[in-house]
Amino acid sequence: MSSDAPVLKLYNTLTRAKEEFHPLDAANVRMYVCGPTVYDYAHIGNARPLIVFDVLFRLLRHVYGDGHVTYVRNITDVDDKINARAAERGISIRDLTEETNKVFQADVKALGCLEPNVQPRATEHVAEMITIVERLVASGHAYAADGHVLFDVPSMADYGRLSRRPLDEMIAGARVDVAPYKRGDMDFVLWKPSKESEPGWESPWGRGRPGWHLECSAMSWKHLGEVFDIHGGGVDLVFPHHENEIAQTRCAFGHDVMANYWMHNGFLQVEGEKMSKSLGNFVTIHELLNTEKFGGRKWPGEVLRLTMLRTHYRQPIDWTVKALEEAEASLRKWGADIGAVELEGDGFGIGFGAPDGDGYGGGFAGVDTVLEALADDLNTPFALTVIHAIDDERELDISLRLLGIDIHSYARWVESEKVRSVDERLVNSLIAERIAARAAKNWAESDRLRDELGAMGVALKDNKDGTTTWEVKR
Ligand code: AMP
Ligand code: ZN
Repeated sequence: MSSDAPVLKLYNTLTRAKEEFHPLDAANVRMYVCGPTVYDYAHIGNARPLIVFDVLFRLLRHVYGDGHVTYVRNITDVDDKINARAAERGISIRDLTEETNKVFQADVKALGCLEPNVQPRATEHVAEMITIVERLVASGHAYAADGHVLFDVPSMADYGRLSRRPLDEMIAGARVDVAPYKRGDMDFVLWKPSKESEPGWESPWGRGRPGWHLECSAMSWKHLGEVFDIHGGGVDLVFPHHENEIAQTRCAFGHDVMANYWMHNGFLQVEGEKMSKSLGNFVTIHELLNTEKFGGRKWPGEVLRLTMLRTHYRQPIDWTVKALEEAEASLRKWGADIGAVELEGDGFGIGFGAPDGDGYGGGFAGVDTVLEALADDLNTPFALTVIHAIDDERELDISLRLLGIDIHSYARWVESEKVRSVDERLVNSLIAERIAARAAKNWAESDRLRDELGAMGVALKDNKDGTTTWEVKR
C-alpha cells in the first residue's frame, strides 16, 4: 500500500454509512460488479456502473498497487431474455451472446474503462452453481419441487438485511412470481427445468438451467472466494438480486457476510424522464459513440465519461445534451492547456499511457487533493472542481488520468472527426481545378480555389514535384 495514500472511505449500503475501507487482504483487494446480460446493446444507464466502478478500480490500484486488486465483472450469457431474443432474430444463442459481447467490449473500451482482471461467463460456471445448490439443499436452505429448486427464504433468520424492506413489501414484490411449487411467497428459484429447445445442463434435479441470482454467487465464489471486499452494481439490484446473492452465498458457506462493502450507483434518466423504449428516449452507448441519434451528433467516449463523473455516483443523474456539451467544453479547454506539452520521454518518470496503473508517486498538491476527493467515497464532482483550478499541465494530465480520462485520446478523436467531416471527393475535385488554373497561369482562380478550400478547413501544400497535398487544419 502506498504510504502517502489517503484513507479510503466508502458508503456501504449494508450499514447505510460511509465507512473506512479495510480490505480482508491488502495484497489482494477483491471486488465483484454485476455485468451485462448479453442479449442487446448496453444503454447509457448501464454505462454508469461501468464507469463508476472503473474509477474505484483505478483508485484501489493506486492505493494498493496494480497487482494487488482483483476486479471481476461477469457476463451473463444464460438468461430467458437471451433465449427469447435469439429465437426472435432466428440466430443461435451462441451467435447472439458473442455478437453482443463484442459490441459491449468495444463500448467499455471507448468509455476509457480498464479491463477487469476476470470477466467470467455464467455458462462456464454451471458446476459451481450446482455445488452451491447442493450445499443449500443439504443444509435445509433449499428444496426441490417439480423440477425446480427453490431457496427457502424463512430458513434464513436475517434475510433482507441489505435492502431493509418491510416484509410485506418484499412479499408483494416476490408475488409477481406466483408458482404452485413455491412453499413460501418469497422463495426464489435457484434452478429450473429446461425444455428440449432451451439451453440446459444435467443436474441432480434433471436437465435445467440456473436462476439469475445464482450465477453471481457462483462466479464470485470461484474467482474471489466465499467472502470478499466489495460488491457493486446499480441501485435497482439491491432487491431482489443482491439480497438473493447474499442469501445463497452466506447460507452455502456459513458466513455472516458475502462481501463487506456493498456499493450502488444511482439511476440515470434522460432529459428529465425515465429512459424507456416507449418514450423514444432510449439510447445505447454504441449509438452515442457512433451515430447522430442523441443531440444530432456523435460523442466521444471521453465526453460520455466526464459527463457521468460530474455527478456523484450515488445521486440520480439527468443525461442531457446540455450536460454533454458542457463536458465537451471542459475537455476542449484542458486539451488546449495540455496540447503544448511533450509528455513522452521527458524523464519525468511517470508511465503515461502505460496500461498498468497511473504511476503517480506523489509530489503535486493539486493531484493529492484530487486523490483525497476520490478517496472520500468517490467524490468525483469535487475532484473535478479541483481539476478546474489546476493550471500546471502535468498535474492536469495526471489528475485526469486518475479519473480515467485520457485527454490525448480525446484530441485524437477530434482530429479524426475533422478529417471525416470533409467531403474528400469535393476536396480532390477542387484541387484538380486549381492545378488546371495554375497550369493556365490563372492565379486569381487558383487563389480563389485555395480560399474556398481554406473555408472548408482544408490547408494545401504545393510540393516541389508539382503535386498538391492537403490536410485538415486544427
Ligand atoms: P442490467 O443489464 O439491467 O442487469 O443492468 C446492468 C447494470 O446497469 C446494473 O448494474 C444495473 O443496475 C445498471 N443500470 C441499469 N439501468 C440503469 C440506469 N438507468 N441508471 C443507472 N444504472 C443502471
Ligand atoms: Zn449479480
